Amino acid sequence: MVNKMDIQSAKKSVIEAGKILLSTGLIARTWGNISCRLDDAQFVITPSGRAYDSLTPDDIVTVGISDASYEGDVKPSSERGIHAACYRMRPDVNFVIHTHQTNASVMSVLSMDLIVKSSEFVNLLGDSVPLAKYGLPGTKKLCKGVCEAIERGKSDAIIMAHHGALCMGGDFSTAFQTALTLERASEEHFKGAAADYAGDTASSERTPDGFTMLTDKPLDGSRETQIHGVIYGARPDVNYIIHSADGYAVKCSAGKKPMKPMLDDFAQLLGRNVKIAKDRDRDIAKKTKGRNAVFVRNSGAYCYASAKSDAEAAEMIMRKGCKTQVEASLLGNPKTISAVESALMRLIYLKKYSKKI
Ligand code: 13P
Ligand code: ZN
Repeated sequence: MVNKMDIQSAKKSVIEAGKILLSTGLIARTWGNISCRLDDAQFVITPSGRAYDSLTPDDIVTVGISDASYEGDVKPSSERGIHAACYRMRPDVNFVIHTHQTNASVMSVLSMDLIVKSSEFVNLLGDSVPLAKYGLPGTKKLCKGVCEAIERGKSDAIIMAHHGALCMGGDFSTAFQTALTLERASEEHFKGAAADYAGDTASSERTPDGFTMLTDKPLDGSRETQIHGVIYGARPDVNYIIHSADGYAVKCSAGKKPMKPMLDDFAQLLGRNVKIAKDRDRDIAKKTKGRNAVFVRNSGAYCYASAKSDAEAAEMIMRKGCKTQVEASLLGNPKTISAVESALMRLIYLKKYSKKI
């Protein structure tokens, strides 16, 4: 019998955890989910697809541990089945967080468990962090893969293939420390492949009589400005553009074929592929169609949307996707997500989950 937790305190701790995870970058937008056990029979969890910074206790949903059932009008996280399984399988666990954290996401495409090298990380993570088999977000298949990984491993962290991570603990603080340690241990694994790839970004905004560059020193001056103009010309619906030109994006823009998603959130936000245009106006204009991002050969990625926050999200997911592609390719032979699954995720994201971008 576990201790009973007062429901209001549990809800508060979930809301507080969301703000902390958001500010540390372990979760972003509405991705990820957070739960806290109430007792042997129930837990409370974040709602599905809602922004973390505006949640109130009424938005946090009570869910049954035995069958992930819930009552009321607020739809709980689509991964409630995974959280329920954690509480069933691990009576010592009172707090569960699912993140889309960057370094664990790079690990997640490598088809292997993470072997923890440094003894300072072993305390929290154990000798290895198991990889859960791939399943589309919110599906029974994904839940089954996670359950198998919990059974197989001896860790409070799980890496979810092509998706992110799951961290558990006796309380939020322990689960949070586990997530932070997982980032460091993942980074340690691909230390040789990581590069100092900080690069510039240049953004612009549409104005009533054209557009204005928001960066003091546009990358490569006039050509940069011209490319923004070409995208605004080709896409009347676009009001905001961010050019991501870190080393990872530039490397990916040197490819010959369109870049396919290796991570679920890339497929959801950017679609089944992002095309690489020659540095010619006509080709850029053509390849921006039907997408929220385009690569320009050897110059990185241009991410754009109608709303500023959506362009920022596209750029963030693009940066994580490029880092994943470059580092994972140096370490192994990572697979991309199938075209059918990518298209399905994009469709569900647009029609049901976000209704934005
Ligand atoms: P929810 O918003 O439904 O919790 O889903 C987010 C997520 O990360 C799914 O894997
Ligand atoms: Zn997720």
